[in-house]
Amino acid sequence: MYCSELGEQWHAARVEPSLAHLDAAAAGRSSRAVIETITKHLEREAERGSYVAAAEQADTLAAGRRALASLIGHTPDELSFRDSARTSLRALLNSWTLPMSPTVWVAKNEFGPNLAEFEHRDFAVRVLPESDVYGHVDVDALENMLQFEQPDFIHICHIGSASGLVQPVAEIVAVSHNAGVPVVVDMAQSVGHVPTVTGADIVYGTSRKWLTGPRGVGFVAVRADSLADVRVESSDSFIAGQLGLGAAVAEVLAIGQQKVFRELAAIGRITRERLRGIGSWEVMEPVEEASALVTLATPPGWGFSDLEAARDKLLETGILVTAADSWRAPLAADQPHLRVSPHLDVRPEQLDALATAIRTMGY
Ligand SMILES: *Cc1c(COP(=O)(O)O)cnc(C)c1O
Repeated sequence: MYCSELGEQWHAARVEPSLAHLDAAAAGRSSRAVIETITKHLEREAERGSYVAAAEQADTLAAGRRALASLIGHTPDELSFRDSARTSLRALLNSWTLPMSPTVWVAKNEFGPNLAEFEHRDFAVRVLPESDVYGHVDVDALENMLQFEQPDFIHICHIGSASGLVQPVAEIVAVSHNAGVPVVVDMAQSVGHVPTVTGADIVYGTSRKWLTGPRGVGFVAVRADSLADVRVESSDSFIAGQLGLGAAVAEVLAIGQQKVFRELAAIGRITRERLRGIGSWEVMEPVEEASALVTLATPPGWGFSDLEAARDKLLETGILVTAADSWRAPLAADQPHLRVSPHLDVRPEQLDALATAIRTMGY
């Protein structure tokens, strides 16, 4: 009945969806327990005052911090909370004393709004070479480049917003550290989705996507022994959200993070197999790519408005996906993509319904 043996459990922990929710990359569905954690705390804040309520939850907040830290390979005291991935990156760049016009190397799947942050600050951005047509970073080529030149840092989207490619972050970190170059990783699409213990100096991400925590919570973590000399302060305002995120991470750890990652990778493969070869829609990742984020390039001649109309039509038939425009990954192909991102509770008939629906759109 589900594509994953974890499907039943994941489904039972959540309110019944009113549609086929294949959009975890935009925002995952929080569990009832996460929602209750948040609302209970909001009630306590109104009952006893926000600061008293927060102090009472100190142990639970610390446990949430430990859980998230273990998932990303940091220590709890290295973590700071912000209200999104974007504001976490901003806080990082605003706190970091870099030389004038610093140089940053990025991969082809870099998130457009991140590039805007770099450009806005006058960073010189260089795109790393790829090892294949899909856009994985060529780590050997990077190692060679680093013998001749060292950027101020390397910034990698572990998984981008417009492709399910998983960048080889641990390998990138290894060769970069050999050259004394720090690595910053955008984990907005990877945390809770694929293994995220990478050895990177600085990582940041968001609660609301694959972790299925609340919107409005982001995090950044800087290793104590980072090659980058920077400290980021927490802005601890949304305590209910931090508690909700802690509860969401605890659920993933209770199932077993590696099991969740394996099952999501299997779901990605099943989804790509199901959607492959439909008309002239084209699955953009290798079928075996170990992520559940799947993108389909639109039929030739389609513009973004055609894709938006298709997305709306899918929504009318009860299927939620994203129409992804090229601003999400401006260094990659400029074609718009239909982004399909099922979580553990996806069912085969939902993928069948999606396949049937897009078969009628374009050829
Ligand atoms: C969603 C996303 C972000 C931004 O996350 P927010 O929490 O909305 O700021 C950053 N990077 C990537 C790759 C994303 O997909």
